Amino acid sequence: MPEGPSVRRFHHLVSPFVGQQVVKTGGSSKKLNPAGLQLLWLQDAQVHGKKLFLRFDPDEEIVCPRSSPLSEPLHDEEHMEEARHHQEVSDLPSQSAGGAHVVPSGDDGPPQCVGGDSPAGGAERWLQVSFGLFGSVWVNEFSRAKKANKKGDWKDPIPRLVLHFGGGGFLAFYNCQMAWSCSSPVVSPASDILSEKFHRGQALEALGRDQPVCYTLLDQRYFSGLGNIIKNEALFRAGIHPLTPGSLLGALRLEALVDHVVAFSAGWLEGKFQGRQQHTQIYQKDRCPAGHQVVKEALGPPGGLQRLTWWCPQCQPRLPAAGPEQVQPP
Ligand SMILES: [Zn+2]
Repeated sequence: MPEGPSVRRFHHLVSPFVGQQVVKTGGSSKKLNPAGLQLLWLQDAQVHGKKLFLRFDPDEEIVCPRSSPLSEPLHDEEHMEEARHHQEVSDLPSQSAGGAHVVPSGDDGPPQCVGGDSPAGGAERWLQVSFGLFGSVWVNEFSRAKKANKKGDWKDPIPRLVLHFGGGGFLAFYNCQMAWSCSSPVVSPASDILSEKFHRGQALEALGRDQPVCYTLLDQRYFSGLGNIIKNEALFRAGIHPLTPGSLLGALRLEALVDHVVAFSAGWLEGKFQGRQQHTQIYQKDRCPAGHQVVKEALGPPGGLQRLTWWCPQCQPRLPAAGPEQVQPP
């Protein structure tokens, strides 16, 4: 699954199109009617965790004021100006994203208040893009078949959505899920591992709970953008066994784990911009850098998603369980 750094890269690709009008649309998406985006303006692009949020607005002239304290009729020009200004300001996502946040219940939960095939009238028009396992964004070119299918045909992948912009360029979205959302992005930057506002205290508290740290790391409420690769790499670098209950780890070890999460993610992002491949030490490896045999197992909370996990039993030993009766003999 594209993790936070990949989605940031997609955001970087999309950003130059902000401020441009969609002049032609295409794509196979049935859930989202691509033609509904015709003539809309891409006004903002934000990334929150593993999701990309794109804001589309109709032409300035036909913007209907949303219900607000200023929506009652105003007559003189000056007030009209003021009202327009107020609306623009209140439209800024950062405005609504400040202050208290609703922490989403999880990354993969059903999207809330999803509209039909067109932007909900009056509501904010945020197109929420999730990239699933193989999603991608292409700029000014289409993805080509890398190999023949079972029938021997070289069929190019079909984009879900294609947006041609007034500036002449286009974006093609592949294998992603898209839905209109009636509210601005609500993922708190405090839980985004790549945000400057990432809240370490909140993350440390969550990690310190009495459950395996490898489950907590994938909890998008506290580690938005953290995926399976980062989980495996950070645990290896911190020398922590994936099934260690966080409550058994001291404050310093939890701090070190969070440091590795942030450092690995930031390094990955930096590498993406420089065209470097992220180097992994344990993820999908047979041996750790010290040459030990790596163990692989699907781990996850009971009834939850089980994710393949790689660890080195020597570099990441299991802690002896706490409790007087389980203290190892001297
Ligand atoms: Zn090892």
